[in-house]
Amino acid sequence: MDNLWRDNEAAGLAGLDLLAYRSRLIGRDPDLVLWGGGNTSLKQTETDFRGRAVRVMRIKGSGSDLKTIEPAQFPGIRLDDIEPLLQRDAMSDEEMVAWLVRCLVEPGSARPSIETLLHGFVPHPHIDHTHADAILALTNTADGRRHVEAVYGREAIWIPYRRPGFRLSREVADSARSRPEARCVVLEKHGLITWGQTARESYDATIEINTRAEEYARERGRGRAVFGAPARPSLSLSERRRVFRRLAPCLRGLLSGAPAGAGSPGPPIERVVLRFDDGQDILDFIGSEAGPQLCLAGPATPDHLLYVRPRPMLVDAAWPAGPPSPADEAPLREAIASALQKYADWYRLYVRKHGGEPPVRPAPRVVLLPGVGMVAAWKDARHTRMVADMYRHTVRVVGMAQGIGEYRSLGLQDTYDVESWPLELYRMSLAPPEKELARRVALVTGAAGGIGRAIARRLAAEGCHVVAADLDGDKADAAAAEICEAQGPERAVGVRMDVADEASVEAAFDAAVASYGGLDVLVSNAGIALSAPIDRLELKDWRRSLEVNATGHFLSARAALRIMKEQGLGGSMVFIASKNVLAPGKDFGAYSASKAAQTQLARILAIEGGEAGIRVNIINPDAVFQDSNLWSSGVREERARAHGIKPDELEDFYRRRNLLGARVFAEDVAEAAFWLASDRSAKTTGCILTVDGGVREAFPR
Ligand code: ZN
Repeated sequence: MDNLWRDNEAAGLAGLDLLAYRSRLIGRDPDLVLWGGGNTSLKQTETDFRGRAVRVMRIKGSGSDLKTIEPAQFPGIRLDDIEPLLQRDAMSDEEMVAWLVRCLVEPGSARPSIETLLHGFVPHPHIDHTHADAILALTNTADGRRHVEAVYGREAIWIPYRRPGFRLSREVADSARSRPEARCVVLEKHGLITWGQTARESYDATIEINTRAEEYARERGRGRAVFGAPARPSLSLSERRRVFRRLAPCLRGLLSGAPAGAGSPGPPIERVVLRFDDGQDILDFIGSEAGPQLCLAGPATPDHLLYVRPRPMLVDAAWPAGPPSPADEAPLREAIASALQKYADWYRLYVRKHGGEPPVRPAPRVVLLPGVGMVAAWKDARHTRMVADMYRHTVRVVGMAQGIGEYRSLGLQDTYDVESWPLELYRMSLAPPEKELARRVALVTGAAGGIGRAIARRLAAEGCHVVAADLDGDKADAAAAEICEAQGPERAVGVRMDVADEASVEAAFDAAVASYGGLDVLVSNAGIALSAPIDRLELKDWRRSLEVNATGHFLSARAALRIMKEQGLGGSMVFIASKNVLAPGKDFGAYSASKAAQTQLARILAIEGGEAGIRVNIINPDAVFQDSNLWSSGVREERARAHGIKPDELEDFYRRRNLLGARVFAEDVAEAAFWLASDRSAKTTGCILTVDGGVREAFPR
């Protein structure tokens, strides 16, 4: 394990700044802590609001992440207020939380970590607490205590597993005080506590002690097939991706609670997005002799539990080879449905057995597909990354533990106690509330400019994952990057897509499924505008207009429809047509006729999609100039000529022509698209919505 401390970086830092520096070094190493796990603290003398010197402990606040933590994210606790608790024998969680809130130096600061007393009771000024893989590998074995003693002798204090809280803090405090020569505390099936007189000393101890555990695990595991012999060969890379592509929509639908049959009652749908991971570590694990059995064991530490749940779901099937065929679909669906049923039955039994009320629809966060890979399923791309990271580290811990002895997870009662523990649930509740289009996936064509880009931005701002498709792949990537910048990493992907090319369209929808597991919204927007009177209109321009403005929408909608039907979660398609469909304009024959074909296609789709809950609606905008590729200078000149005005008078001409005298912006169209994409318009399909400032000749009728 690398020691990342650099004197030149730490020089000049002190107090909270140095604590933040050290914390970020720890947070940077996923083998030490993952995604908000672990905590660090510092005890120092501060001056309070009345100018008095007080002893204060600064500790990571609940909801922050060591990787990115800032000095302001360490609430202060007055040590004089918590040290008297050492005289107590017991304290309930509720009382402890209420007590700690009263000890805060700054009222209203973030709630201090659940493990605050554990830091506060240990007398050393600098403390690191990690959930390191190598330490877990030692403790999560049949004979954990013996291995810890073999590595550290008297340097480490062993504390048997206990859920974090007052009792655990007392046990750590008592043993640390009675064994002043010890350098660390090892918490069974939980993690490590190290300390130092200086920040550097504490960090160095964390690295050194973990490195020794890693070396021990490596030594013991040398030459051992830790998961047994390979039992199920992995498919090739392209086959693995192909199998995921084929089963993802169905898997996403079932995990999201798609009703088993049309009209069958069930709990409301709660969508998930999927992340596929076929790393070699995962393939080796689930393709091994022992993998399918080992994966039923529980998590390595309470910290991972609320992300990965007590166990993953294993789906085993004869993965279909070759090109997709409808004959494969039923067996795949059957395999997933039966695995899910088994998982739900087990989960309900487990909860009931431990005195709880089972959730309406227990669903796994990790799905293992032997020979293919792992699928993480949760509310958004950020959380599926967390789940995947946690599970990969679980596999690492299991592997190391198997090398040392035999992996032992948290027991089921302990697992249940953590899962139902209000303080952990509070930690999860710190996430901001979900937005209206959270958990959904949209593909927007023509997303690099004008109306498409405004819609992509708007849907993303409402929580949607967006696949930004455009003929210009670089610009599509730029549009996606802009969304990720504003809404968080991985919330959008860019993809090059020629709507008139069948293979290109299929590839773009494959990319949507590969990225997020499925699709809920299609915004079929890409289009071209060629302007010429019919007697001068060239056949190639007429054909090109139909290819893009009619066939392009057909190909996109067909691909979307297939995915949506496989998912069984309904869906929404929004077609960006034109005012010209209802009020055709002079010299716009190719454009208006092809847009009319698009509109009629959308109406047929509304008829055919209704039974599957797929809504299809049309927006007729007019004269949206801003940032648009549609209005090339040639088109502007042609349209100006058709109206008998100068090109630079076009905006004003269109504005004056509508009833409201309004200029229409891309954002106005995006507002309508959001409404049609969301459940706000749940009872609307086959509808034309105008966004044109009111053009009398173009009233739908
Ligand atoms: Zn912990």
